[in-house]
Amino acid sequence: VANLHKKELNFKYVVIGDFGVGKTSIIQRYTDGEFSSSYKVTIGADFAVKTLEWDEELRIHLHLWDIAGHERFGTLTGIFYRHSVGAALVFDLTRPETFKSTLKWLTDLRNKVHLPGGQPIPTILLANKGDVTTNTLPNDIDVFCKENQIMAWYITSAKDNVHIDDAMIRLTHAALRNH
Ligand code: GDP
Ligand code: MG
Repeated sequence: VANLHKKELNFKYVVIGDFGVGKTSIIQRYTDGEFSSSYKVTIGADFAVKTLEWDEELRIHLHLWDIAGHERFGTLTGIFYRHSVGAALVFDLTRPETFKSTLKWLTDLRNKVHLPGGQPIPTILLANKGDVTTNTLPNDIDVFCKENQIMAWYITSAKDNVHIDDAMIRLTHAALRNH
């Protein structure tokens, strides 16, 4: 029997990182279950929704915001970040320079959005394209996360659908604690 009184929550997550690291692919994989090997550059801020039947009483709609073509500026408008309660910071294991950029994205994020109490929003780090290589995984990644208040990191693959669900669930547990 459907629970007609299920509580509904909407959580906005931003997905950030350099051009080509796989942000759009991760969002599409998570929300549509699909992967395409062609580049899709859309201009403007886009979002896609994933609905989680969290438990008997709760349904959560995750709004995953994609920066969609604005990566080159390295900084985003405050409107993009506004009201977000979680962030996925993505880099590309096939291009180690994209890991260097994560600090720049993190700085932009932390400058532009906070929880109502002033704390940083929960953030996860995704080392994407793990299906291609993991040899390039930075060996200081644990230290980096600790120093920068990143709650967890995952090796992901949008292509093979690896660890994307786990990462989003982890982020959602944190978002729920702050709710
Ligand atoms: P964005 O610019 O960060 O949104 O990156 P895209 O999602 O457009 O991906 C850039 C390119 O990398 C595309 O050709 C994707 O098909 C490819 N790509 C994305 N994720 C993966 C992945 O996990 N593995 C592999 N092998 N390719 C990926
Ligand atoms: Mg994109």
